[in-house]
Parts: sequence; structure tokens; C-alpha cells
Amino acid sequence: MNTTILGYPRIGPGRELKFATEDYWSGRADEHALAKTGAELRAAVWTALRDAGIDGIPSNTFSFYDQMLDTSVMVDAVPERYRHLTGFDRYFAMARGVQDVPPLEMTKWFDTNYHYIVPELGPDTRFRLADGAAAKPLAEYREAKALGIETRPVLVGPLTYLLLAKPAGPVDPLELLDGLVDVYAEVLERLAGSGARWVQLDEPVLVADRTPAEIDALTHAYRRLGQLTSRPRLMVATYFGTIGADALRVLARSRVEAVGLDFVAGPGTVEVLASVGGLPRKTLVAGVVDGRNVWRTDAGKALSACASVLGLVDRVVVGTSCSLMHVPLDLDQEDALDPAVRGRLAFARQKVAEVVALGRALGEGVPVPESAPLPEAGVDPAVRERLGSAGDARRGDRAVRFAAQRDALGLPDLATTTIGSFPQTPEIRRVRADRRAGRIGEAAYVAAMKDEIARVIALQEDLGLDVLVHGEPERNDMVQYFAEQLDGFAATEHGWVQSYGSRYVRPPILHSDVARPRPMTVEWAAYAQSLTDKPVKGMLTGPVTMLAWSFVRDDQPLAETARQVALALRDEIADLEDAGIRVIQVDEPALRELLPLRDADRPAYLDWAVGAFRLATSAVKDTTQIHTHMCYSEFGEIIGAIGALDADVTSVEAARSHMELVGDLRAAGYGNGIGPGVYDIHSPRVPAAEEMEANLRRALRAVEPERLWVNPDCGLKTRAYPETEAALRNLVTAARRVRGEL
Ligand code: GLN
Ligand code: ZN
Repeated sequence: MNTTILGYPRIGPGRELKFATEDYWSGRADEHALAKTGAELRAAVWTALRDAGIDGIPSNTFSFYDQMLDTSVMVDAVPERYRHLTGFDRYFAMARGVQDVPPLEMTKWFDTNYHYIVPELGPDTRFRLADGAAAKPLAEYREAKALGIETRPVLVGPLTYLLLAKPAGPVDPLELLDGLVDVYAEVLERLAGSGARWVQLDEPVLVADRTPAEIDALTHAYRRLGQLTSRPRLMVATYFGTIGADALRVLARSRVEAVGLDFVAGPGTVEVLASVGGLPRKTLVAGVVDGRNVWRTDAGKALSACASVLGLVDRVVVGTSCSLMHVPLDLDQEDALDPAVRGRLAFARQKVAEVVALGRALGEGVPVPESAPLPEAGVDPAVRERLGSAGDARRGDRAVRFAAQRDALGLPDLATTTIGSFPQTPEIRRVRADRRAGRIGEAAYVAAMKDEIARVIALQEDLGLDVLVHGEPERNDMVQYFAEQLDGFAATEHGWVQSYGSRYVRPPILHSDVARPRPMTVEWAAYAQSLTDKPVKGMLTGPVTMLAWSFVRDDQPLAETARQVALALRDEIADLEDAGIRVIQVDEPALRELLPLRDADRPAYLDWAVGAFRLATSAVKDTTQIHTHMCYSEFGEIIGAIGALDADVTSVEAARSHMELVGDLRAAGYGNGIGPGVYDIHSPRVPAAEEMEANLRRALRAVEPERLWVNPDCGLKTRAYPETEAALRNLVTAARRVRGEL
């Protein structure tokens, strides 16, 4: 093996996987059709990798939904509530739920925008190897072999699987390690029996801080797997950061034959490798081609990284930093990209070619084929100059602001509002699609959007909400909408990346200095405000979220890029204010997502993240009320940062955790307004007013009525109108009743 990749996109060039799964869900296609599409997609990937010249070809990187879910199914960690179902129906029930049977939880995969299905492990969990196709790595290995392709099955490593699991009941997942390793041992033995030479065990948890107990568990698991008499060679892959020295030392002493390290997201990797004395008898898979971002690899840099570790390991294999599933499939599918941007890009297929070329250069001394020099990012001198003198990012005294806003806005205690979007009906989506396709002109489009805004304003007046929104009908996506209007971003046509299940996103590419050529939201907001005397809340996406859900430059620190986005937002906010908008919300749902995996890196991140938010929001008058919104309630390490953002009002998810975070925020010193979501918008259920009242009374134990806001958990765009209207009516009723008790 000279070259390998850790994984490849599984969704197909035309999103075949999405359409096949959705057809199965809707009953338009049966399980045979779905299985057939899966097999075709797998065969196409293996063949493409072989033809490209990769010699360590991974298998079992395909999934009908998620690789963690696949692992749960493989080891039979199937909670009782799904056991009456079989096959795909059981599998998808675990992922998505069925009537009366809730799904497993879903959460973000490390600091990526991919979501995995969280294993639920209880005291009764008994791991065992599933039969037939559910023993997926075996089935896929044999399937590839039947095509004449030798592959390296990829498994989620046992430590990563357990540490990402959620205990259901009184159980420490690590106590289940031995039972899990038994199953992995059986898988390895059976793979060896089928002829597999290598297996890859993914252990990304090793790039985060680990306790001594976890390191012991690592030692134990790999001692047991290493000692198996009949097994394939083992490659332990780590990615998304620098492996810990304690973990690498364990791997170095273990019998595993290869270790994969991330040279892109792990800046200290070479030092750590040297500090443990290298891997003298092992193969190093050097992840020098970035699997998380879309930029072409600098061949010289990649080769010198490989060369720098030659003396520390037995041999070096060129690889990707992580699976390529986090980047789009093929740059050749894009026709409309600006050539200057395009020349800097490599998607999964291009990255495979890079790995192959680097492998030849390293192994056979073949020079990397001449390619055009890497073009540079566009520099905007005006942006640079402004950033240099960007000035103060602090607002005036909180108490003064609070009083000024109370006066200016005249809002009641327990003021009611929503998070921004209203239901995106098929009609709204059609109008946007018609405009994109040129079937309607700009005037017709604007008229249709204004109609919608007028309807949404009238509805909110009728419901009796206090702070209104325009409803965001013009927005396809909260990041893409702004990326399309800002200089420095490019959009792709086919650059889909799996976010979860059959949901894929097309992250914009932030390639150059960011600037705002013209106002982005002012016209819509001003129109909405012209229809009502109540304050209309302007709606923007914050700098951290803009970066988190885009592919970002790697030629300058993220902090720098964030400040550029912040300056553009600062101008937008000033324009909104000038247009008479008195309340402005800057959403930062991704603030927690970008939190570094290691504790030591967190303060610096939070510092620039908070700084960017404040740079964007601090130039307003005392009377202008800044809101922010986050879609979760577990603040953990960022609770202090929420206060530091210094928004006048912060709305968060809270309904599912019974308003607990109101007290948590106050305990952490947060003294501004709080809008704990009083109902969960993720389901069509209409909660009774009494239920929301109970939530409000609970919140009032921790916050004064003039600082308590009443709103749903998140935006309403995925909901339909009937349930939205009913729920908001109950919300207003609840707020009024509780106000009456004060
Ligand atoms: N303002 C956005 C909306 O309401 C917020 C979305 C989000 O928090 N993810 O849709
Ligand atoms: Zn939200």
C-alpha cells in the first residue's frame, strides 16, 4: 500500500442515494430497489478508486443513513422499542422514528456539520454480531471481492463507538467494552477468513482530551484485538485534530500495523509523533490531503510533511486527513465557477488523483505532474484597511440600554416573538424556483414575496404577537442567502455534502476577502415594518455560523475571516437601523459547533467568536435591541461566551429540557433578556396553552418578567401553517395569562 483514502462520498453523482431512500420511505420503491441502488453506488466508488490508482481502497464506508447507526445494527445494539421491526424498516425507524416510536438521538459528528445517530446503550445491552447483510463490513468486503476488488473494510473503532454513545439508564458505556471487543474480534476473524488483508478502525476520539480511564480502555481494547491469532492487519485512523501523545503511545506499543494521523487539522502531529519515539515498526498513513475542505493540495508542502516523518516510522503511505465524505464529489460537474476560484479547488475525485500523484512522487520518485500554480485568494484593500482600524466592539452600559429599549419599544413583560422564519409553503418554494429558472421576472418575484410578507405580518397582528418578523420567505437557507450576496463567496451547482440521512447541503465556498456590495435584507425588513406599528425584527446570520456552514479559506486564520464577515454585517445592521428597524436578531446556531475538540484551544476560539459577534453588533444605538438565537440548550463550555456576546435578548431551545437553562444562564452571570423556547417546533404537535404557561412559570423562578421573552424553540420554516397558527395562538394566550398573574 502506497496510497489510500479514509472514505469517500456515498451519495452518488446525481444524489442517487437520496432519491432511492426517499422513494423507499414514501412507498414508491421497495427494499429491492433500494438495495440495488446501494450496490450500484458502492460498485461505482470501488471501481473509480481502483481506476484512479488508489491501492488501499476502503469499503464499508457506504451507508444508507449513517455509519454509527450501521455499527449499532452490526453489534445488535438495538433498543427494545425497535425489535418488532426488521430489515430496512427497523434500520430507518432507529434513524427517524415511526408512529409512536421515537428515533434514536442525532448529534453532530465532532466539529463537522455531519450528524450521526447516537447509540443508546443500557444495562441490558448485550452486543452480538448481527446476521446476514447487517454484518455489513463482511457483506461489503465480499461484494467488492466478487467484483475483483480487494478492499479494506472500515469500522468505527470500539472506543469511539462507546464514547459517542448515550447511556440509557445506570450504565457507563466503557463497562461494555469487553462485550463490544468480543464482537469486533469475531468480525476481524471472519474478515480474515474471507481473505481481508487490512481493516481500518476509526478512532477520531483520540484527537480530543481523554481521561486516564479512557486511555486504559484504549490499551485494553487494542491489546485484545492485536492478540487475535487470525485477523487482518489493523490500521487505526485518527482525524479532525492532533492525536494525544498518551493515545499515540498506546498505539505505538500495540500490535496494530498502521496508524493514520491527520496532518491537516492536526498541526502538532509531527511533534507528537517524535515525542513518543515514532512508530518504528509501523506504517504511517499520513493524512496530508485535506478531507474536510475544498482546496487543492500544495504538493510541495504535502511531500515535505511526508518526508519529515520518514525517519520516525517504518513506512509512509499517502492518505487523506479524514474521509472525503465531507467534501463534494466532483469538481468536473461544476460549469459556472469563476476560473480563478476553480483553479484553487479539488473535490473528492480530484483529491483522489492528488493522493495518487503524491504517492508516486514519494514512493517511486516520480515528480508530481506540473499543474497550474495555485492562484491566490482575492484581496480587497478596502476591507483590509477597515479591519485594521475596526474600532470598538463594545456597547454601552446594560442597564442604560435596558431602560432605553423599554422606553423606545414599549413592550410588555413576557414579550412574545418568533425566531424568524414562518412556514415555507410549496407555493413560496415554487416562486423561488421559478425565479432561479427564469420562469418569472424580478418584479413578479418581488411582488409574490411582498404578498407573503404582508400575509405573515397580518397573521402576527391577528395573533397578538409583540415583536414581529417578516417570515424569511426569500431565503433558501440562512447561510447561502447571505453568501450569494456577499463578495468573496462562491456557490456550487452540485456540491452536495451529506448533513444527515437524506439531507444534503451545498456549503458556499468562502474564497476571498468578504465585502458587502449592497444591503442584503433592508428592503424586505423595511417593507414589513411599513405594514405595522409593532416593531419588526430584522434577521441576520452571524459570523461564526456563516463560517461553520461554508468551506472556508485556509490561508488565513478563521478569526480574520470572521472579522471580515462581521464588518459586512455591521454595515447591514447600520442600514437596517437607518431604515427604522428597532430590533435586530443575529443568529449564531453554530457557535457551539465550531468549539475546538480540546479544552486548551477553547478560550482562543471563544475569544474571536465573541469578538466577531460584537464587532458586528456593537455600533447600534442604545435603543436598538440586539437579539441572538441558538438552537440548543446544552451550553456547557460556552455558557460564559453567551453572556460575553452581550446581546440584549438571547433565545434558545428549552422546551425539551424544562427551562432548566434559564437558571443555568443566570447562575453563569447572564443578566440580559432570555427567550427560552416554550414549545418544540421539531414536531407538528400543538402544545396546549397550559403546558406553555407551566414552562413560563418555571422560567420565572429564575428571571424577572421584564427580561423573560416568550417564543418557540426555533424558526418555523419546516412547519405547516395549521399547527403553527394554533401553537402561536396558544403561546400568546399563555403569555397573557401568566402576565395577568404578576
Ligand atoms: N432565523 C432563522 C429561522 O427562523 C433561525 C434558524 C436557526 O436557528 N437555525 O429560520
Ligand atoms: Zn434555531
